[in-house]
Amino acid sequence: MTPEPVLVLVPGASGAPQDGSAPFHIAEEGAPQLLVTDLAVTRGDGVFETIGVFDGAPVNVGPHLARLNRSAGLVDLPELDLDTLSAAVDAAIDAHDPVPELTVRVIVTRGIEGTGTPTAWVHARVAADWSRYREGMKVVTLDRGLASTVVDTSPWLLPGAKTLSYAVNMAATREAVRRGAEDVLFVSTDGYALEGPTSTLLVRHGDVFTTTPVSAGVLPGTSVATIFAALEKEGLSTREELLRPAQVVESDGAWLLSSSRLAAPLTHLDEQPIPVDAQLSRRFVDLLSGRA
Ligand code: PLP
Repeated sequence: MTPEPVLVLVPGASGAPQDGSAPFHIAEEGAPQLLVTDLAVTRGDGVFETIGVFDGAPVNVGPHLARLNRSAGLVDLPELDLDTLSAAVDAAIDAHDPVPELTVRVIVTRGIEGTGTPTAWVHARVAADWSRYREGMKVVTLDRGLASTVVDTSPWLLPGAKTLSYAVNMAATREAVRRGAEDVLFVSTDGYALEGPTSTLLVRHGDVFTTTPVSAGVLPGTSVATIFAALEKEGLSTREELLRPAQVVESDGAWLLSSSRLAAPLTHLDEQPIPVDAQLSRRFVDLLSGRA
């Protein structure tokens, strides 16, 4: 039987609760907890993070919570209390049955309309089985409908913020499946490879590893930061540079990286084959799971 998920409510996510109650507490996961007037529900208005936990050890909690605070800033939410959120993440992991792979979501919404107080919670559950994707996946390019200059021209579109409005990202993934693929590489209107709906692009040309610059409106990935640090230690070159999809196809290897699925190598982009280095992919998975 799958172990029960764990829910931790965090009323102290942006400062001590007014009523003097505890900053976080475990709550019944299967019971109603959210009001229908919460702006998460009525506007999809909030921010989130997904943290991978492997053999009980969470990976990159600090960078994830820093990015949560960055996203909160981009949507004008109050500054978050990262120590409280970090303790709430630990509490959720501790309360969960031990499993090899756990996915922990940290969610902060704009709260109940009119109150100005965010609603926040941490939810821990057994991770999806990503093993098939870690062997390789077919990916299709889809137009994101935004230029690579969107950060400068239209910041109100919230490029690079991890907001709760992920319905478009999920719709893109379903479109990929309709096209016989497993995932998407978004492309800007000016023709550059950007990121996946829930992942960062990493491309290898010889000893040079490239990812998309955050200035192009992509999320600053924690996974790619981990991999870049390891590659740089070995003297390999890492770069943030815009690539065309054709340059991804002509590469010596390409991956979509994320904290739960880890490193998923691309076998094809729009039906064109890309070499897969199974050994390097396994190394990336070990690195990103903290098992290396
Ligand atoms: N890009 C987007 C749009 C994402 O949603 C995610 C993760 O969910 C990533 C990239 C990868 O980020 P990370 O490696 O920190 O999980």
